[in-house]
Amino acid sequence: MNVIIFGPPGAGKGTQAARLQEIYGLRHLSTGDMLRAEVASQSELGLKLKSIMDAGQLVSDDIMIELIGNCVSEPDCENGFVLDGFPRTVPQAKALDDMLRHMARKVDHVLVLEVDENALIDRIRTRAAETGGARSDDNEDVLKKRLNEYRAKTAPVLPYFEERDLLRKIDGMQPIEEVSAKIESILGIEPPKKH
Ligand code: AMP
Repeated sequence: MNVIIFGPPGAGKGTQAARLQEIYGLRHLSTGDMLRAEVASQSELGLKLKSIMDAGQLVSDDIMIELIGNCVSEPDCENGFVLDGFPRTVPQAKALDDMLRHMARKVDHVLVLEVDENALIDRIRTRAAETGGARSDDNEDVLKKRLNEYRAKTAPVLPYFEERDLLRKIDGMQPIEEVSAKIESILGIEPPKKH
């Protein structure tokens, strides 16, 4: 099963995707985490990426498509994956479809976490406090720019999947466990029974 989770920054995509990996073995592919690893390596590419990410802008489609193309063809994605942070533009969505088609695979579910924008700044502040400011883009100024990018470039990707009746909207303002339960019911999976 191949799943995409959409939502603005701070919507809870990473939390839900990590859970889907832990409990159901779907490979969690976070493009943000991959880019941050490249930044941490202090490579020449990493330095360029850092300035783009710190400005709240999107990294170029070419770089992102190559990055994700290398991942989805790995053996650990054979049982399915959950994409967190990709695709973020219409060209990325089309490229994803093409690469999956070549592998005789497809996107099965597209989830959208809908969150009240006023709540996002509080969530980002909380994340910055909990992670000791690990992400240099977790602050109010950059959040505004990331939200603008989301509205301008990522929101237009949603109709692309809606046309194929793959899109399911979820109220991301609910407690984490309730969002998880909703996702499980959409994907048709059941959490393991507690003993
Ligand atoms: P995230 O952790 O998903 O919020 O991503 C952090 C930052 O990484 C974003 O603000 C972008 O600068 C960059 N990024 C992550 N995924 C993508 C993508 N699919 N396309 C372009 N830029 C991305």
